[in-house]
Amino acid sequence: MRTRTAALLLAVLSFWLLLVTFIHFYFSREMSSSSLRQASSSNSGDNTPGVDYSGNGYGSGGAREITQGAKNGGHKLCIIIPFRYCPYFPPTLFSLLIKPFFCRDREDELARFLPYMDKFLADQRVPYSVYVVNQTDALRFNRASLINAGFLHVRENDPSCDYLALHDVDLLPANRNLSYSFPAQGGPRHLSPPGLHPKYDYPNFLGGILLIQAAHFELVDGMTNNCWGWGLEDDEFLRRIWEANLTISRPEGISSGKDDTFRHLHSPKVRQRDYQMCYNQRDLTRRRDRVTGLSTLKHRLSLDSPKRLAENAFVLDVELECDLSKTPWCDCSGAPATEAPLRPIEPGENIMPRFPNRKRRKKKQQ
Ligand code: UDP
Ligand code: MN
Repeated sequence: MRTRTAALLLAVLSFWLLLVTFIHFYFSREMSSSSLRQASSSNSGDNTPGVDYSGNGYGSGGAREITQGAKNGGHKLCIIIPFRYCPYFPPTLFSLLIKPFFCRDREDELARFLPYMDKFLADQRVPYSVYVVNQTDALRFNRASLINAGFLHVRENDPSCDYLALHDVDLLPANRNLSYSFPAQGGPRHLSPPGLHPKYDYPNFLGGILLIQAAHFELVDGMTNNCWGWGLEDDEFLRRIWEANLTISRPEGISSGKDDTFRHLHSPKVRQRDYQMCYNQRDLTRRRDRVTGLSTLKHRLSLDSPKRLAENAFVLDVELECDLSKTPWCDCSGAPATEAPLRPIEPGENIMPRFPNRKRRKKKQQ
């Protein structure tokens, strides 16, 4: 009797293991171009104000047909998308079991992004390539380091790109007057500034979509590598731009406001942002970083990268390296429950954004 129960238990356990392994590999398989193309065509019927979404963008008239150098004053755009198709999960057995079910979202976002932008940029006659920089290691997401890695690849392999769009995958321009053309004023152009970005509206917000000349990105040594998890890398980047005396411009004459200028495909219910803070992360990442950047990035590009997604879109599989003695918060598992205390900070070194509305509200309440 006992042997039979044991055998039954063993059979159930093996079945469960097999099932989980199958689900895990099926959903977290490497993005194949065919799966993306399929998803692209099935997602071509969006209906965002101001833009016709009906075509999937890969047909005739797509931006890939624009002869390079002929339009946009001879400038070429490289779109760099920091990306990880699975959200961050702490490495536990439970998360290993549930992870496969959460990993499809970003892939869907990407599958929408590519055809949509192809059409959008074709309409603006902007020649471009897309580089999706996919983080493949088990560390926390690092948006800025992925952008650095993307830039290094572009500089080497696509040098005709003289300006970049640092672009969130889940933010689609919905107003056709948002121009992706070379920033005529020379300095960076923030396409999703406060007032237009659907979610963030503090005065010095610089995230979402930023156009910047490749030479300027290099001039400021790219972005900090210290920000693992969500936030602050764009606030730090703003300080680099200010200190280099570059003037940031914003789109002009856009009256569609916060709700209709972009489409933010981000659902916090399905994919929570990684707000964790551990070790001395809070103390260090609120400071201007004068040490790390493009020149100090440590990463490995997979041997089969770049993988082609479309004629002018590629995935770079990137494994970031973390120096645990410098940024232990790249992995919060096993971290002490209490964070290290905050040390005093010189006023000029503080990069934390200010939220004037909140302050005012607080004062009123007092
Ligand atoms: N991202 C990703 N996978 C993740 C987390 C972030 O691909 O697990 C990329 C994606 O391009 C996304 C961007 O980083 O649009 C910014 O992250 P998120 O949308 O979570 O932050 P938000 O700025 O909307 O709060
Ligand atoms: Mn988002």
